[in-house]
Amino acid sequence: MIIDDQHYDVIIIGTGAGGGTLAHKLAPTGKKILLLERGEFQAKESSEVEDLELFKKEQYHAPEQWYDQNGEPFSPQTNYAVGGNTKTYSGVLMRLRERDFEEVQHQSGVSPAWELTYKDFEPYYTEAETLYQVHGKTGDDPTEPPHSTSYPFAEVTHESPIQEISHGLSKQGLHPAYLPLGLGDQGRTDSEDTGATPATNYPNVTLKTSAQVVCLHTNSSGSEIKAVQAQVGTQDYLFLGDIVVVACGAVNSAALLLRSANEKHPNGIANRSGLVGRNLMKQQLSVVIQLASSTNSGLFQRTIGINDFYWGDGDFPYPMGHVQNSGGILQDVLFAEAPPILSVFTRIMPGFGLRQLATRSIGWWLQTEDLPNPDNRVRLAGEKLHLDYQPSNVEAHDRLVYRWVDVLKAVEAAQPALFNRSTYPRSDMPIQVVAHQCGTCKFGEDPATSVLDLNCRAHEVENLYVVDSSFFPSSASVSPALTVIANALRVGDHLIQRLHG
Ligand SMILES: Cc1cc2nc3c(=O)[nH]c(=O)nc-3n(C[C@H](O)[C@H](O)[C@H](O)COP(=O)(O)OP(=O)(O)OC[C@H]3O[C@@H](n4cnc5c(N)ncnc54)[C@H](O)[C@@H]3O)c2cc1C
Repeated sequence: MIIDDQHYDVIIIGTGAGGGTLAHKLAPTGKKILLLERGEFQAKESSEVEDLELFKKEQYHAPEQWYDQNGEPFSPQTNYAVGGNTKTYSGVLMRLRERDFEEVQHQSGVSPAWELTYKDFEPYYTEAETLYQVHGKTGDDPTEPPHSTSYPFAEVTHESPIQEISHGLSKQGLHPAYLPLGLGDQGRTDSEDTGATPATNYPNVTLKTSAQVVCLHTNSSGSEIKAVQAQVGTQDYLFLGDIVVVACGAVNSAALLLRSANEKHPNGIANRSGLVGRNLMKQQLSVVIQLASSTNSGLFQRTIGINDFYWGDGDFPYPMGHVQNSGGILQDVLFAEAPPILSVFTRIMPGFGLRQLATRSIGWWLQTEDLPNPDNRVRLAGEKLHLDYQPSNVEAHDRLVYRWVDVLKAVEAAQPALFNRSTYPRSDMPIQVVAHQCGTCKFGEDPATSVLDLNCRAHEVENLYVVDSSFFPSSASVSPALTVIANALRVGDHLIQRLHG
């Protein structure tokens, strides 16, 4: 084991939405900061998928296996690289709705209140939208919470087939809105280009890649993290720092704390509550495909979002969720899990190849809030990482899918020339799609019912913070990244005060 002879003020583990953003926030303090990232720099991909088969299969899966609750292995759809999952995300950067911070009755239970309100997060959402160059427009979506300032950049307009559909949806009395998108000169803004790399331009910030943290070591009383053990390439290192921030993503952060159990923390670091790894949420995600009469490029952005069913409707009084168009099917990474449904079309339209079908298809993502359930959890069995997971709000999600298919049928009936009405195959995202994972170290004021305090500091460990999607007490139905980013900026303010205190 090599002991790094430097002393760091802050060690941040992981450079995704949480860790990369926090590094950017803390870099100007001049404090000595070390970033440890298990992945490498990821080459910018061409926006077009050259090989649909590869896209469908393993390109976007981590080279490791996790196990479901029945012990079946799977390759998680998660990305180990500088920038984490923001290197493959779609860049849709939405705020949670104001009511998402409150207690809400759902079809299969209660979504708990956060112990901070939307107002507490609002300034950080604004800061996050500026940093990640969000292009958007307020005013179209009745569920959009109040913004203290408008988006820093104008909305991205729809590709023409999507524009036609947007008109059709408005005619049905719905409120299609422009999706807020993080976009810079190089395409989607991510936590490498926007967070980690600008941070390392400061001489006080060091980034080590291929540096997988395997264990946190506490002092003898267990009150502080004393050392961070990492495998850097093939060497084992110990790094010493005053403040340690875990930002490995909700599954891996919980796994690291559990794996680091010691005499003073027998059930895992900071786990007196028994909640580390529990309440894993990952939203119910499905895709529904619609077949257009004309071809499209297959390479456009997601631009349209619909929240008319977010809180329910006249027929169903419980929240159903959020709908957005998929990007062009040849570039939408999440779609990598779903192409089997294109084979439904190959049966209807013999003679059409997958690529031809993809460029005539319009995909719709449907997202429904997942409720916290202590039995849904990250669990270690020896070296094996298990996700024990049962979905919640299943009926609400089905309702959303049926409602949406009804909407598509109504739009198509009104614009028959645009579409080839036939069938609307649906694909539900399996366990390996952990894109919207959250909740495994929830924050709150009471150490008996939460892992982190409201500053995302572990209740039991004075210098340990978790700054990624782990802190979410509920998952909401909109995508999580902007809230992870905003929270990192919020915790960053707290840490700046602490570092200067
Ligand atoms: C295909 C896809 C599309 C998505 N699209 C959207 C979208 O459009 N909008 C949206 O809001 N969200 C989207 N998401 C979700 C979004 O990417 C995540 O919510 C966000 O990245 C979570 O940030 P995080 O900091 O919690 O974790 P991550 O971004 O996953 O970062 C965790 C980092 O920790 C590193 N790491 C893990 N373990 C270790 C270890 N032991 N030692 C050192 N480093 C470690 C990882 O390599 C990674 O860099 C998408 C996700 C996927 C996969």
